[in-house]
Amino acid sequence: MTKYLDELNDSQRAAVLYNEGPSLVIAGAGSGKTRVLTYKIAYLLESGYEPWSILALTFTNKAAREMKERIAKQVGEERARYLWMGTFHSVFSRILRAEADSIGFTSNFTIYDTSDSKSLIRSIIKEMQLDEKAYKPGSVQGQISNAKNHLVSPDAYAVNRELREHDNACKMPAISDIYRRYWDRCRQAGAMDFDDLLFYTFLLFRDFPAILRKYQQQFKYILVDEYQDTNFAQHSIVLQLSKEHQKVCVVGDDAQSIYSFRGANIDNILKFTKLYQNAKVFKLEQNYRSTKTIVRAANSLIEKNLEQIRKEVFSEKSHGEPIEVFQAYSDVEEGDIVTNKITELRMSQHYSYDDFAILYRTNAQSRIFEEALRKRNLPYKIYGGLSFYQRKEIKDVIAYFRLIVNPNDEEAFKRIINYPARGIGETTVGKLVEAANTHSVSLWDALCSPLEFGVNINKGTHTKLQGFKELIENFIRVLPERNAYEMATSVIKEAGIMSEIMMDRTPENMSRQENLEELASGIHDFCAMREEEGNENISLSDFLSEVSLLSDQDNDKSGDEAKITLMTIHSAKGLEFRNVFVVGMEENLFPSMMSGDSPRAMEEERRLFYVAITRAEEHCFLSYAKMRFKYGKMEFANPSRFLSDIDPSFLQMPRELGITRQKEEPFSRFKSPQNKQQTPSLFGSEREKPKQTFAKVVGPRNLTKVENIQAKPSTGTSVTALQSGQHIEHERFGIGEVLKVEGSGENLKATVKFQNAGEKQLLLKFARFTVI
Ligand code: ATP
Ligand code: MG
Repeated sequence: MTKYLDELNDSQRAAVLYNEGPSLVIAGAGSGKTRVLTYKIAYLLESGYEPWSILALTFTNKAAREMKERIAKQVGEERARYLWMGTFHSVFSRILRAEADSIGFTSNFTIYDTSDSKSLIRSIIKEMQLDEKAYKPGSVQGQISNAKNHLVSPDAYAVNRELREHDNACKMPAISDIYRRYWDRCRQAGAMDFDDLLFYTFLLFRDFPAILRKYQQQFKYILVDEYQDTNFAQHSIVLQLSKEHQKVCVVGDDAQSIYSFRGANIDNILKFTKLYQNAKVFKLEQNYRSTKTIVRAANSLIEKNLEQIRKEVFSEKSHGEPIEVFQAYSDVEEGDIVTNKITELRMSQHYSYDDFAILYRTNAQSRIFEEALRKRNLPYKIYGGLSFYQRKEIKDVIAYFRLIVNPNDEEAFKRIINYPARGIGETTVGKLVEAANTHSVSLWDALCSPLEFGVNINKGTHTKLQGFKELIENFIRVLPERNAYEMATSVIKEAGIMSEIMMDRTPENMSRQENLEELASGIHDFCAMREEEGNENISLSDFLSEVSLLSDQDNDKSGDEAKITLMTIHSAKGLEFRNVFVVGMEENLFPSMMSGDSPRAMEEERRLFYVAITRAEEHCFLSYAKMRFKYGKMEFANPSRFLSDIDPSFLQMPRELGITRQKEEPFSRFKSPQNKQQTPSLFGSEREKPKQTFAKVVGPRNLTKVENIQAKPSTGTSVTALQSGQHIEHERFGIGEVLKVEGSGENLKATVKFQNAGEKQLLLKFARFTVI
């Protein structure tokens, strides 16, 4: 018998060796499902299957690569190379290119990404003279995508009563027509969107039996990882291909189904045994990844879901340590606590940076951790995403900042001249570039005086250029009197970026909005910190110089050295790390605000949390902040309900905030009623969210603080009361001890050693803290 089969337990081995018919491996996290698939492929190869006759579908390209490497070790690189292994999209685009003729495409068809397809939908809506407010391109795109994932063609859509009624109810009766046009236009352009890659594959196999037969004969064995996250189209293609020989093995865990927003259907896994009548079901129960504590904690969590296939999962590893829960004052302190803990563990237990992952619910949360890690010079990488300042929406806004600070900045100019869309097309920009080159002036100069530089444009375009010029000039005008934060928020609002993003609530736009809010929050922190260091009037260009340094570090590609991984929980699926930090465990963040009123959505959030915890091998940490800068102001946050879903015997809860209070004397100089005006939230009132104030948090503890951190504290109150040895509670850095107080009057400064944020100098005039 092949030696590597010894590396499997009995159930795993049974699943690997059973190759007579369809099989389903359904099991909890870390129980070796992926290992079963990998070993099964190796076993099939050794049993005489040719590599090109095996089709293995994974959820990410990375997973496919890793599997291939693993198999190569067992059967040799030469054989592993020819396996058909990859994501649904990559494997089927390969088949579609080979068979393009049959479905009226050429083999070099373009693949439209989400933004290409959205912009096409937008222009169709315009051409049809529909109201863009009623027909939000993102929502229309979502509906079309949904139709495709359910294999509903434009023809079928047009006669489907249920869909038509749905569209009428949503006041979008023309979706069917938009879908038809969009379909035709993609075909004319020789383009397919992501959903088309699946839909056309399905159609190809449905309408060309000879082609289907060819692939059925080629793929003698089909294997699918993460089957719980396949959608109807994917599931149907697997069925088409495996119908004859029924040699198919799918593995999955219903408790880890986290993509229903993209049309994945947990029922697919449940339906499997109905579709493949003689399917053999294997259950794996032993988790090989995590400590007993982590496995049991995860079990106790997922039990709270009603919709699930009950499973026993156990671990034979040691008990390990309890899951430690950290409470931070603020999002900033959360960053400090997590990075300090990483350093501490690395030192005391000799971990490599690779052994750490920080997992968050939303992309925007990465910024705080990126900054905390940079501050300590710790290496990190953002997996499956761009680092914060490289994201498109952030770069767009930064380009505005750059142009306002330096109107001659050409790249910034090009980036935003038509963003948000204002009808200034590439031809016009081309003319500006030409004129600027001819006269050796900047694009901005050419734009300001098109006639003088011989830019040949019509009146309409001229007006549009003037509009842009005025927009930027208005910002330039107020630049000297506003600080960086004020400038940033007005740019985001007044340049139309916010309304562009708020237009429709697609998941991408939600994430963009969160990123912009996070950017505002970062700039706010930056101003506050600089002020506390004794600087005044922190300008947009101060912020820009800081950012350009940050982005430079991002580009620093220092090879393969070990790095801490930062990623969303969604992209962590299937992976494992020795130490995992699940951060932002707060209501309205995780579970996400969007899931509040739907029990189904709440169960999906809980599954997501289950995925997060089960990534950890040795240590799992959970953290939350009591205060988070959101929507343009400090918001009070409640710990996530999920924390109480876990059996408390597996948790080590945080000690209550702070240390024994020595004095209850309030340090009240920050109360300044005249400054209490509310700063409007960056994204206005469109988002429903709890409106708790800072005062509510501190109220019961008889502490006094600024109620709104936008308000500058009034000066002139005596601050001489502060002495070394006293403890303070700082709004952002948490608790610290005053080491030294020096200077006088306006320049009074304190050196404070914070528990988590380290030593800092605070200019008392600006510092926001309370003596405790
Ligand atoms: P997930 O649900 O998170 O995708 P999974 O069920 O696919 O998890 P694997 O990733 O295959 O689980 O396995 C989890 C870990 O346990 C891996 O490190 C794997 O190598 C190890 N493992 C699996 N089976 C065994 C075994 N029989 N002996 C030793 N280690 C094992
Ligand atoms: Mg797996």
